[in-house]
Amino acid sequence: MAPESPKIKIAIAGGGIGGLCLAAGLVKKPHIDVHIYESVPEYKDVGAGLALHMNAIKAMDLIGPEVKKAYFSKALFMGEEEQEMATEVILAEGPHMGELVAELGRAKGRKTVSRADLLDGLMELIPKENISFGMRLASIEERAENPKVHLTFKDGLQVQVDCLIGADGIHSGTRSYLLGEDHPATQPKNHDGWQIYRTMVTVEEAKKHINEKWTRTVPILLGPRGHINCIPLNKGTRLSAGVAVRGAKFSVDGSTPPLRPEIYESYSEDARRIVNMVAKDTSASWSAGDHDHAPYYHKGHVAMMGDAAHASMPFAGNGAAQAIEDAAVLDFLFSRVTDGEQIEKAFAAYDTVRRPRSQKVVDLARQFGRVYAYAEDGMHEDPVRMKKFFAGAAAFTNNADLQAQNDEAMRIFENSL
Ligand SMILES: Cc1cc2nc3c(=O)[nH]c(=O)nc-3n(C[C@H](O)[C@H](O)[C@H](O)COP(=O)(O)OP(=O)(O)OC[C@H]3O[C@@H](n4cnc5c(N)ncnc54)[C@H](O)[C@@H]3O)c2cc1C
Repeated sequence: MAPESPKIKIAIAGGGIGGLCLAAGLVKKPHIDVHIYESVPEYKDVGAGLALHMNAIKAMDLIGPEVKKAYFSKALFMGEEEQEMATEVILAEGPHMGELVAELGRAKGRKTVSRADLLDGLMELIPKENISFGMRLASIEERAENPKVHLTFKDGLQVQVDCLIGADGIHSGTRSYLLGEDHPATQPKNHDGWQIYRTMVTVEEAKKHINEKWTRTVPILLGPRGHINCIPLNKGTRLSAGVAVRGAKFSVDGSTPPLRPEIYESYSEDARRIVNMVAKDTSASWSAGDHDHAPYYHKGHVAMMGDAAHASMPFAGNGAAQAIEDAAVLDFLFSRVTDGEQIEKAFAAYDTVRRPRSQKVVDLARQFGRVYAYAEDGMHEDPVRMKKFFAGAAAFTNNADLQAQNDEAMRIFENSL
């Protein structure tokens, strides 16, 4: 690229996990001028803990070893550093109670991290002048002349850029713009009526109530009236514990009934003790949601990524990983986008490679939910079948060749030039 060529101006709406990972890659490219607009004035811990699977780590590494390092510097080892650990999926009800049916994301030195800590780590990779907080994107307009994308923020600020990448989460305004407000896939769905009861306690407090083992690892304890899970956070000082109930009866005002520990009598003792602890304070609870499949992830010079494009239920533990895979592909493509006229082709290559895989993860997460709730065609009565299902799903999400995914996107892009 000639030194006098203008930089490609990219706006990223949303400084969540996906937006920050992408920006961490783009800020290193001299021909790109990237700016993140994040709606909140500062990050708050929303009480969710993440256990990133191998594909997330691989995608971070593709963006840059410093991104992976940022994650590892903020996360907590689940066990000993050299010990292999996994999310343990265990039947907690029925004739096979106690049986381990899956070890998801098994890896040496596996870690968990709170979302806020991870965002802090990623922020350190992005110069302060490349990110603005308290900036809620309010409207998007595309014009024929350059710069093609005109953005207006809630406070009235207007910005013109060569392209917009919406990483603005499950309730994405970019998604509404791309698909249209009335498109059936625009709004988040909760087809199975999931309600997540969640509490946040210190590990010290948790040890008074539950088996101490579950404060050091990530169990998912299954049964028909909800599955139970714990994630240690903040370098082992706090515990996020939850019960996910399928088919929750929401009342007209949208509120849910309190969690009732007495209906978990047939569950294992370990599971019941966690339910009792969660029932004491469910203030960190929320209703889950995901997206029906979008028919495309871009139009013109506007694209969406991460939860904005393919929010999934948290049950397969791969939503953030998919957002980071998007970031890896977009980052790689933009290393070769030297002219604004190539942007649409880069977005088309991103869409071709990422849409099928990320939407399959949305479907898988829904299926995980049904399997966890003993609602998938008798699978809970056949642990061998269940193990096969989880092994196949984990192979699809975790063992993917992400360098090959990047290369395929680049091949499509270069062939289209
Ligand atoms: C309880 C729970 C547990 C989870 N566990 C895991 C796990 O173990 N592993 C895993 O891989 N995934 C997990 N996930 C999923 C993961 O958290 C999400 O998939 C991931 O955060 C998506 O990243 P994102 O950047 O696309 O969106 P987000 O992280 O949601 O970020 C979107 C950002 O956009 C901002 N924004 C919104 N609207 C605007 C606007 N108009 N203008 C500007 N900014 C805007 C928001 O403030 C936010 O900061 C879990 C999710 C939950 C809820």
